[in-house]
Amino acid sequence: MSAATQRAGWSRLPLRAAAFVVLTCATILGVSAWREWAARDAVLKGAETEMANVARSLTQHAEDSLDLLDSGVVGVVSRLEMDGTDPATIAKLRNLMEVRKKATERVHGFAIIDDHGNWLTSPGTIGSTLSDDAFFRHHQLSPKREAHLGRPVKSLLDGEWVLTLSRRFNKPDGSFGGVVLATISSGYLSHFYEQFEIGRNSSVALTHGDGLIVARYPSNEKFVGRSVADKPLFRNPSLQRPSGAYHFKSPLDGAERVSFFKRSGRYPFFLLATVDKDQLLAPWRAAAISRMLYVLALVMLIAIIGAVLVRQLQRGQRMAAALVEKEAHFRLLAEGSSDMVTRIGLDERLRYVSPSSVRVVGWRASQLIGTPALAGVQADDLPQVQALVDAMKRGEKDEVRVTYRNSHRKKGEVWLESTMRVTRKDNGSVDGVVAISRDITEQKTLETRLETLATEDSLTGLANRRCFDDRLNDEWARAYRDRSSLALLMIDVDHFKAYNDEYGHPAGDACLRVVAKILAAEMHRAGDLAARYGGEEFAMLLPNTDAAGCARIGERIREAIHQAGLVHASSPISASVTVSLGGATCRPSFERTAGSASLVEAADRALYAAKDMGRDRLMMSGEVMNLLPKASGQ
Ligand code: GH3
Ligand code: MG
Ligand code: MG
Repeated sequence: MSAATQRAGWSRLPLRAAAFVVLTCATILGVSAWREWAARDAVLKGAETEMANVARSLTQHAEDSLDLLDSGVVGVVSRLEMDGTDPATIAKLRNLMEVRKKATERVHGFAIIDDHGNWLTSPGTIGSTLSDDAFFRHHQLSPKREAHLGRPVKSLLDGEWVLTLSRRFNKPDGSFGGVVLATISSGYLSHFYEQFEIGRNSSVALTHGDGLIVARYPSNEKFVGRSVADKPLFRNPSLQRPSGAYHFKSPLDGAERVSFFKRSGRYPFFLLATVDKDQLLAPWRAAAISRMLYVLALVMLIAIIGAVLVRQLQRGQRMAAALVEKEAHFRLLAEGSSDMVTRIGLDERLRYVSPSSVRVVGWRASQLIGTPALAGVQADDLPQVQALVDAMKRGEKDEVRVTYRNSHRKKGEVWLESTMRVTRKDNGSVDGVVAISRDITEQKTLETRLETLATEDSLTGLANRRCFDDRLNDEWARAYRDRSSLALLMIDVDHFKAYNDEYGHPAGDACLRVVAKILAAEMHRAGDLAARYGGEEFAMLLPNTDAAGCARIGERIREAIHQAGLVHASSPISASVTVSLGGATCRPSFERTAGSASLVEAADRALYAAKDMGRDRLMMSGEVMNLLPKASGQ
């Protein structure tokens, strides 16, 4: 996976997490709302069922009441048709009707009316005729003998609202004889409805087929006789069913109502039972609100936790991205560097090796990782490097720089300079070392070369004058400390100017090289030093050598040069090249005031003495002193 793809994946992750949290919250809210709505529906359905039961049983009650009334009316009609309307019969029937009325609570009254609309049962009480009343005219005009349910009217007897049920009776000849009338009181019905506990703000109303309210509970007095013919139950075609649920807004108080209506199959009336929707739903609403509050609190908790998690995810991503970038930078630095970068664990094995290891030690990083870090260090340098690594592991040193020889896969050995630094964990304890190593072989070679140049004479390969002076001082100090003797030979080629003149300068150089070689061959001990002192003059420092030893070596040199047989035709003293030597010895510990220069001076004097004595000879300082008794020193 590329870094860009990975970063894109990362940046989408918090978005997805946030979307998940939102979806979870929305789902919880949605499901809860849906459940509450279903609970509300169940409450409404329950109310509809309850209202339907009330409507059906009260319709049944009204029909039964009218049937009861009708059975009384039918009895009276048959008696009248059999016995006629003579006063005796009427009186008997009136007594019968009174008994019946008393026995049955729901019967409000019975009446017999003759063919002119006059009361036959209640003379004297009612003065007016009923010839104009609707039920009377209905029977007068219609030969039908069925019962007729009249509109609700105010009773002429006591002014109470009543519902009338009437039948016509015929005279023996079959013509219209009059009407038998029974009434049921609106008050009775209302009172009966009161027994049903249908709740506050609920109502039951019995309405006549032509739209007048017959009885209602509650507030019967207020509503009875009112017409509702203009209301949807009459006008709306979809409501012209035998029964059904019906939701409407009350025109009286504007409240929403749930109701059920039932039309009677046998009589022209219907019954409407209603309940206040607000009141019906109040318990559900209270419970739903408290449940929804819990759900809301839960959703908010989820949202808050989700937001915190998403924020942390974003922060983690930013940190990871920064880390990746940082690591890329470091890797670029480590892998782009020509120096070899390594990370060494506490077990001293390589944990990381940069690719430049191929250049520096000849091995690929993959070949080195896991191997001991100091495996390639040359045995002579290993103790020093190991000691430094140990000190760092113990936390005694934080950073060190060390130069050592290390094996190279192809070149055999290279000089490395490593800068090592400890790495620590968060708690401060050392967990390893980072080493940056570079190949300094070339530099080392140059250094050695410069050192050589600084101390070596380029023509002869012997030590130069500076080197000689340094060594003279060192050996002087050492001899002083050791109370040992130090000897010096000064050697000068005889008539060398003439040699040059005779054979040329390059031949003179070659001659000097031969002399130098002979001198070098005479350096037998570690401290012996042959040097070119200047021009054709050489010096030989012989630590721990007494005068006799010095003279012996000097003589050997003189002879060896002589024996070398370098032809010197222009030399007045010999056919070959010769040298004169001056030797001196001393014990620096005896020379309180004199320095190393005194030894040189003494040897020099001896040399001059040798020259004076005819050249091609050795003179020791002691001999010079014998020759020149006034001279002081060696
Ligand atoms: P003497 O026997 O008294 O020492 O005589 P001499 O000629 O050796 O001494 P002098 O000091 O007169 O001459 C030294 C000569 O050495 C002069 C110089 O040309 C020669 N010389 C000095 N250094 C070099 C050198 O590096 N190469 C050559 N070819 N000649 C050198
Ligand atoms: Mg000279
Ligand atoms: Mg000379």
